[in-house]
Amino acid sequence: MTDGQGRSIDYLRLSVTDRCNLRCVYCMPPEGVAWTPHGDILSYEEILRLCRLFARLGVRKVRLTGGEPLTRKGLPALVKGLHAIEGIEELAMTTNGVGLARALPALRREGLTALNLSLDTLDRGQYAAITRRDALEDALAGLSAALAEPGLRVKLNCVPMGENDAQLVPLAALARDYPLAVRFIELMPIGLGRTLPRRSEAEVLARLERAFGPALPCPQGGGSGPGHYVTFAGFRGRVGFISALSHPFCTGCNRVRLTASGFLKTCLQYDAGVDLRALLRGGAPDAQLLEAMREAIRQKPPRHHFGSGGCGTSDERRNMNEIGG
Ligand code: SAM
Ligand code: SF4
Repeated sequence: MTDGQGRSIDYLRLSVTDRCNLRCVYCMPPEGVAWTPHGDILSYEEILRLCRLFARLGVRKVRLTGGEPLTRKGLPALVKGLHAIEGIEELAMTTNGVGLARALPALRREGLTALNLSLDTLDRGQYAAITRRDALEDALAGLSAALAEPGLRVKLNCVPMGENDAQLVPLAALARDYPLAVRFIELMPIGLGRTLPRRSEAEVLARLERAFGPALPCPQGGGSGPGHYVTFAGFRGRVGFISALSHPFCTGCNRVRLTASGFLKTCLQYDAGVDLRALLRGGAPDAQLLEAMREAIRQKPPRHHFGSGGCGTSDERRNMNEIGG
């Protein structure tokens, strides 16, 4: 369906848990957060019912996220259920990669088509400082498993945050050595992301050009995502930028989010949306759920106002682990 701005909405980011095995500095406080009680998290049956309705509204791509989606038990069963929904053509997941090597075969078998792996550094000590867990080896095993999986589309996401300045070139070099998209995501001022230094796309690109020579145009790789891509001489893959602040992409935004506790969230920055769990558990029939979804999507905010100073009362208060990125 289209929203009130005429944007076609065909992509759902589905958070399956707010729990995580890491504590990335821009996402979660070191002491952790109070997890949402299990009973408040949507069951797989509830998720599948809502996703069937989203598919009826025109959603064609679903991305599993979290928290860390791999920490939720029985994830392949959810993938299987989503794969069976008519209309859903792409089933992706965003993960930190810890435990992925073990989990991937079953997820692939049940229909996972694409995978984004978040990795901010290749240095073990720095990884432990950024994620507050000594798990680089496990994440790299996940990356290797993903790259070895025939037909799986793999992207690597890195958030430049000052601390990992010296790692941006080694991470981008993975796109030289593998047919991989390495993407740099501008730190967004959400939750703990407000507290860290940001590196703009221009700063990252300048650093990469000093190392690899001039950026070359490259096919954008299809899809309607917010990333734009370049490549460098001798690269097998490409380097992308997702720059919500310096290159806003709200006019082409095609996505909505469902939090683990069932809130349909229509813009990353705002608290706008509707509590679908309350409707579901209150016994709402499909027609009522569909109407609530339609109305929330119609009201999707036109744009974020990151970087423009003032924060209104409807600003998102959740941390990224609750939203799913
Ligand atoms: N745990 C999974 C992971 O890390 O890939 C999925 C959830 S995580 C919240 C999704 C993505 O959001 C990650 O790539 C993470 O780097 C990114 N992220 C978290 N906080 C962010 C922020 N303030 N600005 C930009 N990206 C952020
Ligand atoms: Fe966990 Fe992902 Fe947040 Fe890191 S970014 S703490 S891996 S949810």
